[in-house]
Amino acid sequence: MESTHNISGKVIVITGTSSGIGEATAKYLASLGAKVVMAARRDERLKEIEADIQSAGGACACKATDVSDRASVEALIAFARERFGPIDVLINNAGTNTLGKVEKAQFEAWDRMIDVNIKGPLYAIGAVLPEMIKRKSGHILTTSSISADTVLPYMTVYNGTKAAIKSIMEGLRQEVTQHNIRVTTITPGAVLTEIGTDDDPESLKGLLNEFGDINPLKPEDLARAFAYAISQPASVDINDITVRPTGEVL
Ligand code: NDP
Repeated sequence: MESTHNISGKVIVITGTSSGIGEATAKYLASLGAKVVMAARRDERLKEIEADIQSAGGACACKATDVSDRASVEALIAFARERFGPIDVLINNAGTNTLGKVEKAQFEAWDRMIDVNIKGPLYAIGAVLPEMIKRKSGHILTTSSISADTVLPYMTVYNGTKAAIKSIMEGLRQEVTQHNIRVTTITPGAVLTEIGTDDDPESLKGLLNEFGDINPLKPEDLARAFAYAISQPASVDINDITVRPTGEVL
């Protein structure tokens, strides 16, 4: 059986596609025939990725979006509908993490993590749900983190945002499953991406000591997890997928 059926032709909006997991997932889903709408703040990066996908024969569009701004998210959803029609799949993948002990009182970073990691997905969910309920069809996926369950120092606020969104996704599942809408939380362990690359060395060292010596996943490893969940028949609702690199203990 073809494991990637049920993706071709779907309209998929995915946030956080200017790098890392989102970029790899957008490229993979487009290669499987999805019509992909990509969003992030760095417009130039989005346009380069759009050109890559289109030159490989894929269907996609992109829109500069700040997921912490509700009007910007609503404009993204309107753009996607205008471009490709009703949205079949929403992937809330944009996320941010600033390391640092709570005693550092990084108020701006705390606000940013809460706004991007919790409010961002909620704004997008709020924008797509009425139409999905009306059509009795849809799939909402969100990228959480193993830190939702495995609390680690140096990322206390990030842990909290990822636990919050995981809990919100489970509540959402219970509310919308009777409308034939599927809900999936993707929970990655360590993945080699741009996230955390501008963190202060002391916090980064502290966190890496917690993890020990591991070989992180590649973003493409997560792209396959998204595709697996989406590719299931409409009657099969994959709710949680955790993907760690082999060797990661935490
Ligand atoms: P990257 O930093 O490579 O990607 C993060 C993406 O989010 C970028 O495209 C960035 O784009 C986007 N983003 C950040 N802030 C905003 C914003 N305000 N509005 C719109 N887009 C935004 O990291 P990852 O690929 O690793 O991160 C993807 C997801 O995976 C995140 O939710 C992260 O928390 C989660 N995750 C990552 C893990 C890892 O080890 N890498 C582990 C567990 C979970 P731009 O800056 O252009 O806006």
